[in-house]
Amino acid sequence: MKKLRFYVALFVGKLSVLVLKLFKKNATYMPGKIAIKICPDFLKYIDKPKKIIAVTGTNGKTTVCNIINDVLIDNGYNVLNNRLGSNLNSGIATALLSKATLNNKIKQDIAVFEIDERSSKIIYKNIKPDYLVCTNLFRDSIKRNAHTDYIVDIINSSLPKETTLILNADDLISCQLGKKNKKIYFGIDKLDTDVEETNNIIKDIKTCPKCDSKLKYKYARYHHIGKAYCPNCDFASPESNFLVKNIDKDRKAIIIKETRKSYRYYMIADSIFNIYNELAAISILRIIGLSATKINNSIKKTKIVETRINEEEIAGKKVITHLSKGQNPVAASRVFDYVQSKPGKKAIILIIDDCDDAKYSSENLTWLYDADFELLNKEDIKQIIIGGVRANDYYLRLLFAGVPEERLIKTVNELETTKFIDKDNIDTIFILHDIYKYDVALKLKQNLKEDKG
Ligand SMILES: [Zn+2]
Repeated sequence: MKKLRFYVALFVGKLSVLVLKLFKKNATYMPGKIAIKICPDFLKYIDKPKKIIAVTGTNGKTTVCNIINDVLIDNGYNVLNNRLGSNLNSGIATALLSKATLNNKIKQDIAVFEIDERSSKIIYKNIKPDYLVCTNLFRDSIKRNAHTDYIVDIINSSLPKETTLILNADDLISCQLGKKNKKIYFGIDKLDTDVEETNNIIKDIKTCPKCDSKLKYKYARYHHIGKAYCPNCDFASPESNFLVKNIDKDRKAIIIKETRKSYRYYMIADSIFNIYNELAAISILRIIGLSATKINNSIKKTKIVETRINEEEIAGKKVITHLSKGQNPVAASRVFDYVQSKPGKKAIILIIDDCDDAKYSSENLTWLYDADFELLNKEDIKQIIIGGVRANDYYLRLLFAGVPEERLIKTVNELETTKFIDKDNIDTIFILHDIYKYDVALKLKQNLKEDKG
């Protein structure tokens, strides 16, 4: 009976993929959702590729998955992934059933799944990854993710014991995953920009998990990221198996040290958080046996997808669109830090309202006071133009951050933000947009091209 139910679910799921295709829509989660509705154990029974790589974490998981997928495909692997789909159980089910035959056979030999942290519980019961890469764990939307301890507990309570973890050695929170699992670490060695103690608003771990003494840092990078140790017991950041020893921004290269040898790779993007993403991807690719040369040759052809970062010259100005997720204070702070580190006179357009949520949610605002808007209080950031229904809230937050009133402009109409740019006084325009506002960012670029701005 169970078997019959599964095959009905598989058939209906595959049929709905076809129907969606007919209407020129991507099957992102609906076919999987229907299949799970018909057969709740659908993920258990569906055939799976022999090797499964899972990627999770607060920030960077999509970019890491994209790099892994690009490199594997470029090297001739037949990869099954949820690249176009959701990272919840329905997205994983959709990815699997789309590739399965009607008699439940999958011919791909490797899968790369992006997995939402909170969905771990329902996914790992039936999908047991050989490798789980965790990019990092930070405070995320409070409404959905509560606190990092809550997320660590969810992942730990569901993690299969045979899964090898690939973890960020510079992130003490994700290092607490899988007490009994085999672990391999990646990290970035001390940088010139590192400090003794960071002054970011959010630090999700401050005391030793063993003895509760205040943690100290050999070097701190941002938030709780860095190389930490406890002054009163033996607790410390682990050593990295894959360690970035050198970052050469001029030559667009990074050097990664492994146990015996160091290898040089092309640097896809120059922000530290994207170097972590690239490093995480290279680590897992090396672990499954790809040579450094092969990885590097493929990485040279890889780009971070345009919906995340894009740079182009419009009417003599550099225009950079950059994803900056709303309700995710650390992701926003990292992007603000990246923007302020760039040379020249800058204008910033902020359209980071999180979808329709902005209109209806009362929780929405708290994250503004966890994000480091203070980073935008810099002499060479000449204008910050805020667009959207929550413009007043961002305006107030920026005033609290000490940004002089004369540098701030706000408008409810996102599409008119470009018209306020003081072109004679600006070298670079940054458009920082939420994931749901990418279409608006594109329209703003079009405005600039048509000189409506
Ligand atoms: Zn301690």
